[in-house]
Amino acid sequence: MALIVQKFGGTSVANVERIRNVALRVKREVDAGSRVAVVVSAMAGVTNQLVEWVRDTAPLHDAREYDVIVASGEQVTSGLLALALQQIGIPARSFLGWQIPLRTDGMHGRARIEAIETEDMRKRLDDGQVCVVAGFQGVAPDGRITTLGRGGSDTSAVALAAALGAERCDIYTDVDGVYTCDPRIVTKARKLDKVTYEEMLEMASQGAKVLQTRSVAMAMKHRVRVQVLSSFDDRPGTLVVDEDEIVEQELVSGIAYSRDEAKVTLTRVADRPGVASAIFGPLAAAEINVDMIVQNVSPDGAATDITFTVTKADLDKTVALLEQKRDELKFDRILPDPNVVKISVIGVGMRSHAGIANRMFEALAERGINIQVISTSEIKISVLIAEEYIELALRTLHTAYGLDAA
Ligand code: ASP
Ligand code: MG
Repeated sequence: MALIVQKFGGTSVANVERIRNVALRVKREVDAGSRVAVVVSAMAGVTNQLVEWVRDTAPLHDAREYDVIVASGEQVTSGLLALALQQIGIPARSFLGWQIPLRTDGMHGRARIEAIETEDMRKRLDDGQVCVVAGFQGVAPDGRITTLGRGGSDTSAVALAAALGAERCDIYTDVDGVYTCDPRIVTKARKLDKVTYEEMLEMASQGAKVLQTRSVAMAMKHRVRVQVLSSFDDRPGTLVVDEDEIVEQELVSGIAYSRDEAKVTLTRVADRPGVASAIFGPLAAAEINVDMIVQNVSPDGAATDITFTVTKADLDKTVALLEQKRDELKFDRILPDPNVVKISVIGVGMRSHAGIANRMFEALAERGINIQVISTSEIKISVLIAEEYIELALRTLHTAYGLDAA
């Protein structure tokens, strides 16, 4: 008997009627003879509301209490779905993180899963009970409630699927799969039937919001077959799988973008050992994530410019920190610019084909779009451009790589 994990996101459980609809979907899987564990998110908008209440009460809050509060949304939906299943004759029981238990480390607000005890759940599944698990939450070594970071119920679902050795982890969301590009911007975007773990990981970390990045990394590590699909229609979704399951691999499988980038340039930074660490060390200590970094060789051996990106939210803090270091770093000017976007072209085909980056540069040049920063990895090329060109750039690249729907 197959064992399936189904995960339903916030829009799929946004109200009681939709929860009933989810129950019917679960029933279908049960009727087909599968053992089913379900992971649920909070109702759409609820977690945001909870976070807001936390901030209103205490701007600098205790992370342990933050977790107690924001984890509550999933408690409600897990109970409601268990009830809705019982109403249609399916034996079901809800589980909070600590009841499983799903053990995490003690990093409140962004805890990592360490172990999931599945013995009890397995017995129940074998007995034909549906286990409805509150996503996004776990229990710290000291017994307190933890949460896994925003969007973390995807990670709960994949981790549970890995622990149970599930055949598949179906992630039901408000889009019907993974697209070559955001269909709200590129109307000719196509849904992918399959995408590799690696590509999905790049897409998620480069801004595609369909799956939490950590859930993809976890699926890749444990080789969990993930399917992304919509709970509002019955079409097949996108399978996230191993590379060798994809017979005809496109050179480029998707284009992602992130508006959440801000550029910082330090001009005439001293060109000597230790400068980069003097700049990036304090940023790391302040938990500011730096993404792209470029530094050129200094023309005169004395000073050079360094450009890097941080999230828009961290821009002011970054500038303030570097201003404090002005004497030590001896840079000339600091130039912050929040009006940038990062566009990334992703495809495992890049590993074996030359000229893919150049197609990007040519296509952007033809449109007169200036590239400010470039960075690459084995299967990805990212560029930073002015924010105003985002739509033009995405559509141009989508066409240039032959991704447009017929
Ligand atoms: N409810 C949580 C959030 O909104 C977790 C999730 O939906 O994945 O971030
Ligand atoms: Mg989500």
